[in-house]
Amino acid sequence: MLKLYNTLAKQKEEFKPIHPGKVGMYSCGPTVYDFAHIGNLKTYISTDILRRFLEYSGYEVRQIMNITDVGHLTADDVNQADTGEDKMLKGAEREKKTPQEVAEFYTEKFFEDLKKLNIEKSAYYPRATAHIPQMIKIIEALIKKELAYEVNGNVFYSVEKFPSYGKLSGIKLEELKAGARLEEHPDKKHPYDFSLWLKAPKNHILKWKSPWSLGYPGWHIECTAMSIEYLGETLDIHTGGEDHIFPHHENEIAQSEGYTGKTFSNYWMHNRFLLVDGQKMSKSKGNFYALRDIEDKKYSPMEFRMLALSAHYRSNVNFTWTAMDQAKTNFKKIVEWKTNLQNLAEKAEDKKSEIDFSHIYQKRFEEAMDDDLNTPLALSVLYELITETNKLMVENKLSEETAKNILNFWEKINKIFGLIIKKERIDVSQDIIKLAKERKEARKAGDFQKSDELRKEIEEKGYIIEDLKDNEYKIKSK
Ligand SMILES: [Zn+2]
Repeated sequence: MLKLYNTLAKQKEEFKPIHPGKVGMYSCGPTVYDFAHIGNLKTYISTDILRRFLEYSGYEVRQIMNITDVGHLTADDVNQADTGEDKMLKGAEREKKTPQEVAEFYTEKFFEDLKKLNIEKSAYYPRATAHIPQMIKIIEALIKKELAYEVNGNVFYSVEKFPSYGKLSGIKLEELKAGARLEEHPDKKHPYDFSLWLKAPKNHILKWKSPWSLGYPGWHIECTAMSIEYLGETLDIHTGGEDHIFPHHENEIAQSEGYTGKTFSNYWMHNRFLLVDGQKMSKSKGNFYALRDIEDKKYSPMEFRMLALSAHYRSNVNFTWTAMDQAKTNFKKIVEWKTNLQNLAEKAEDKKSEIDFSHIYQKRFEEAMDDDLNTPLALSVLYELITETNKLMVENKLSEETAKNILNFWEKINKIFGLIIKKERIDVSQDIIKLAKERKEARKAGDFQKSDELRKEIEEKGYIIEDLKDNEYKIKSK
C-alpha cells in the first residue's frame, strides 16, 4: 500500500487515485530565463522517482509540466510583492536577445539536463505564453464571482474572499497583516492580494490584449489554467519544491478552487531544498551550480542522480564535493557489481535456479518505497544485496542461473532508480592479452612460479588479473 506525505493533510496518507489505475499529475516546471540550478534539478529527480514508482505499482501516469516563459517576476516567488522585473525580460536584457529566443534556448537546455539525468518525459510541456486566452477566461470568471477586482488595468485576487486561504501553508491572514512588511502595490486592497493580470509599462516587450489593459498575466494563474486544460479540474497529485508552498501553490488553490468550486488537488507533494555546504544556494553567495558546473568537475549526471537518491525527498540533501565523491563511489560499486553479475549471467543455461533470494529483497525494497518513497532505505536494501552476492561471487558460490535472477531483479528496481549503466569496456592492449594467455597456459601446466611472474608483469602495466573458475580469468584496470 502506497503512502505519500500530503502537505495539505500534514501527514502520510494512503494514495487513492480519482480514477482506478490512473494518475493525473501536475508538476511546476522551470522559468526558462537561465540554466536550471541543481536544486531545481533535484526536485525534478524526486518527482521522477514518484512517477516511476507509480508506474512500477501499475498506474498509468499522465504528467504535465509547465514551462514559464512569461509573468514570473523577480520578487514574486518570495512574497506577494508583485514587484521586480519580469524574469524573462531580465534574461533577454542580459543576453541581448528577444525573450522568445531566451525561452527557446533555455527550454532546450532544460530538456538536455532532463535527458542526461534520465528523467522520464512528461506527457506534455505547455508554455505559459500559449495559454493567455485560457488565463483571461478564468480571470474574467473570478471577477464575476467577486473573488478578484480590477484597478487601473491591474487585476488582483482578493485573498480575504477565499475563506480557506492558507490551508496549504498554514499561514494566517490576520498574523500576516500585523507583521506584513511587503511592498504594497498601490492598487491592492490587502497586502496579500496577488496579481492575476498586470498592466504593462510602455516599453515592456511581452504583452497581450485583455479586457483590462494591454498587459501580461501574473505567475500563478498559468498553472491553474494549464492544469485544468490538460488534466481537468481536480488533480490526483501536484508536485513542486518546498519554496512553492507559499505563495505559489497557496495562490493556485485560491484561484482554482475559487473558479471551479472543487478540490484542486488531492495530494500535494513538496521536495525539500538542496543545500550547498549546509547553506541555501544563492547567486550572491557564489554557491550556485548548474549541471554543467558539476560535469566540468568530472562528475557525471548519474553520480548527481545517485546523490539525490541517497537522501529522502523530504529531507535536505547537502551538496558538497565530498558528498559527490561518495556518490561516485556508490555508483561505481553498483556498476561493478552489475557488470560482474552480467558476465556470470551471460553463461546461464536455460534452467531454473535452485536458489532465488531476490524476492526477499524485492519485498523489502517495495516496503521502503511504499513508505513515502524512502529511497535511502531502498538503496540500503540494494547495498545489502550487493554485499551478499559479491561475497558469493568471490567464493564462486553464485550459480549463473541465480546471477540471472538477481540481474532481472536489478533491472526491475532500476526502473525506479533510473541509473544508466553502460557496459563497461576496458581497452586492453594486445601485449596484455598475450601475457594473460601465457599465464593461463602456465597455470594449466602447474607452473605457478611463471604464472606469478606474469601476474606481476601485468600489474606493473596497470592491470589486474582476476582468476575465475576453470583457469578462466578477467582483466581489470587497476
Ligand atoms: Zn506552478
